Amino acid sequence: MSEGGVVALAGGVGAARFLEGLVQVMDPAELTVVVNTGDDRDFFGLRVCPDLDIVTYTLAGVVDRGTGWGIEGDSFALLEALRRLRSDDVWFNLGDRDLATHVHRTQRLRDGASLCEVTAEVGAAFGVRARLLPMTEDPAATIIVREDGTRTDFEEYLVRDGAPDDVAAVDLSAAAAARPAPGVIDALESARAVLVCPSNPIVSIGTILALPGVRAVLRARRDAVAVSPIIGGRPVKGPADRLIPTAGVEVSALGVAQLYRDFCSGMVIDTVDRELLGPIRDLDLRARAEQTLMRSSRIAADLAAVTLEMAGAR
Ligand code: GDP
Repeated sequence: MSEGGVVALAGGVGAARFLEGLVQVMDPAELTVVVNTGDDRDFFGLRVCPDLDIVTYTLAGVVDRGTGWGIEGDSFALLEALRRLRSDDVWFNLGDRDLATHVHRTQRLRDGASLCEVTAEVGAAFGVRARLLPMTEDPAATIIVREDGTRTDFEEYLVRDGAPDDVAAVDLSAAAAARPAPGVIDALESARAVLVCPSNPIVSIGTILALPGVRAVLRARRDAVAVSPIIGGRPVKGPADRLIPTAGVEVSALGVAQLYRDFCSGMVIDTVDRELLGPIRDLDLRARAEQTLMRSSRIAADLAAVTLEMAGAR
């Protein structure tokens, strides 16, 4: 990355849509995306990194627009064949062409390549010009603790179990013990602007913030600008409404602002949440109300432009 580039903290679908807008309004060669790896795990012996792949496929223009993950028009022949052999644990959808990414990644990691190297290789193969960095190369699995004490990883909670609302706590201790990937701290220190994508504040952005040193660097700057993933008191998709209460704040753009106020200087919220501009400004944050539901790449580009402008990078 050139000195003084833009760094974006990212989870999956919401982040990917926002980044698709961002690369339309800035030079992607100056963008570094630090991506959550707390949802990563092995399926059938293959290393799967859901958020890295969603961001890669979206920036490459090949993502399945209906689901927001996977490759457009992919087939599922391998999964169907596998289900005949072992129906009990085939619950995570992996398309045939998507599986090529996981096969490649697994083999390269086994051969001694780092996750940063493999991520760069995959990005280059898909023609992605922004630099994608996994938040860490160490194990950093997010654990969801249910009210009955059961502990599951994030994909088991979300996909296998259907994201029930009996969440007692979110355990980010693995991220807290992991090292940020090489380049993450440097990028955050030297960036001319830091943006926080509209992603789950607990299990996507929260994991990145839990890595040793990350929050401290961001606090020292205190100039990041975030886009709220919560519109009208509800997430656009995903289980943020079931997870945000574990952090002791309400499910709203104001609740997200409370979680980010120590390291952000500004926040973009949706026009439907206009009445929260005052309360957010009372937290010593600049706030703007814009259209944030990214129904088209035009809306995403406009939102990205406003966010960059608030961060003083446009
Ligand atoms: P996940 O891995 O799919 O949970 O990916 P994210 O970390 O991106 O989390 C999804 C979050 O993105 C949810 O909280 C959604 O509300 C948010 N999101 C998805 N699409 C949009 C959108 O168009 N606008 C905004 N503001 N948020 C969005």
